[in-house]
Amino acid sequence: MKIHEYQAKEILRKYGVPTPRGIPCFSVEEAIAAGKTLGGNVAVVKAQIHAGGRGKGGGVKVAKSPAELETYARQIFGMQLVTHQTGSEGQKVRRLLIEEGADIKKELYVGMVVDRGTQRVALMASSEGGMDIEEVAAHTPEKIHTVFIDPMKGLQDSEADDVAAKIGVPANLVPQARTLLQGLYRAFDETDASLAEINPMVITGDGRVVALDAKMNFDSNALYRHPDIVALRDLDEEDPNEIEASKFDLSYISLDGNIGCLVNGAGLAMATMDIVKLYGGNPANFLDVGGGATTEKVTEAFKLMLKNPNLRAILVNIFGGIMKCDVIAAGVVAAAHEVKLAVPLVVRLEGTNVELGKKILADSGLPIISAVNMADAAAKVVAAARG
Ligand code: ADP
Ligand code: MG
Repeated sequence: MKIHEYQAKEILRKYGVPTPRGIPCFSVEEAIAAGKTLGGNVAVVKAQIHAGGRGKGGGVKVAKSPAELETYARQIFGMQLVTHQTGSEGQKVRRLLIEEGADIKKELYVGMVVDRGTQRVALMASSEGGMDIEEVAAHTPEKIHTVFIDPMKGLQDSEADDVAAKIGVPANLVPQARTLLQGLYRAFDETDASLAEINPMVITGDGRVVALDAKMNFDSNALYRHPDIVALRDLDEEDPNEIEASKFDLSYISLDGNIGCLVNGAGLAMATMDIVKLYGGNPANFLDVGGGATTEKVTEAFKLMLKNPNLRAILVNIFGGIMKCDVIAAGVVAAAHEVKLAVPLVVRLEGTNVELGKKILADSGLPIISAVNMADAAAKVVAAARG
């Protein structure tokens, strides 16, 4: 689960991470008032959306007067902000953060993720702040310093100091960087975060180390023990189809292709998308109906896929292990009748009661294209999508 920058900063402050003073706003009027409350000459108007790269997209503007603040707030509030993480349609800005302006001397990068290999939280830090860390990793990987944090000990003083020095924090400010890094780790650990990133962490003209941006994602499997974090969820930022899917316990992710995929099991769903690609097609979604799909779930899954205006064909790929093929076939037939299917439907069934399942499909009278294996299914659905 993702949250907004201002929410992440509120969490981090509780762990002693220094941030600029800021006020979240839900209208232009609130933004103007927030500027007055903050006082000072320079305020920054920051779009709050669940995507990075806002600065480059025109969603972060430094205002040097109340008049400028109002201009920027009017510009950014309600805009459709396009960044490299939003896709071309962008994301509507419904919240702003009005923040005091920092006098930036240096922009650095620090971030934490869970590293599967070492089964530890990895702290990554770089002197190259303010830009995409993916770019730094691709072109100058030697500029990224990594520490794998021992969960029993936490981030040690010596580790924090060492990494701070390596990314160019001046010696007299290393203790401040240590406080920030250790606070970031405790926040990460105690909230069950899956990602915490401060890009940039800055050194200011008056000699302070401050988190100027903050991004936190949380492990959804641990949310049951963090009701305070669940309360920060902003459904406006989430794909409506994915929200709908989660109500029916379907794992659904929208993609930008035109072939709907309905599969049982996450591994088979991934393999299905791969083979569709291999045959020159593009999946419209990832969809795992799970092990115990009922007719109702299959119907909801069809409805979800059919909401996509780009949809040209559907591939149902089911391996009946625990779930029997005849149950799935009956579900597909019922769903296809209920939603008045208007695109070609390719079905590949394998496993328990497969013959019975195939008979149900054949007897249904629906124009179902059946496939004998995955390659056959992929070839047929790609051809069907081309029309
Ligand atoms: P994003 O990563 O989405 O582009 P950031 O919060 O990192 O958004 O802001 C982009 C840039 O704007 C930062 O790298 C920094 O240079 C500048 N910036 C952000 N917040 C402030 C602030 N409070 N004071 C001064 N400059 C800021
Ligand atoms: Mg940033």
